[in-house]
Amino acid sequence: MIRGSRCGRLPEVPLYEYVCRACTREFEELGRADARPPCPACGGTEVERVMSVVAIGRTGGDAAPPVTACGTCGDPRGPGACTR
Ligand SMILES: [Zn+2]
Repeated sequence: MIRGSRCGRLPEVPLYEYVCRACTREFEELGRADARPPCPACGGTEVERVMSVVAIGRTGGDAAPPVTACGTCGDPRGPGACTR
C-alpha cells in the first residue's frame, strides 16, 4: 500500500524543463514527469522534456581516477600490470 499523501506533508513538485520542437523555445513547467505542457510561445504541443544533466567527469581533485583494465591485455589490475 502506497501512502503518497500524508497530512501536513506536501509532495514535492519538480520543475521540468521543456523545449519546443516547433520554435525551439525552452521553458520550465511545474508538473508531472509525463506531462506535456503546450509551448508558451507558439502553443505547440510538440515539446520535448529536457533532462537536467548532471555534469559527469568533473572531479574536485579528491576523487581517484577509475582503475581501467589494461588496454593491451585487459588485465584488471590496471594499465601496465601485464608487463611486470
Ligand atoms: Zn513553440
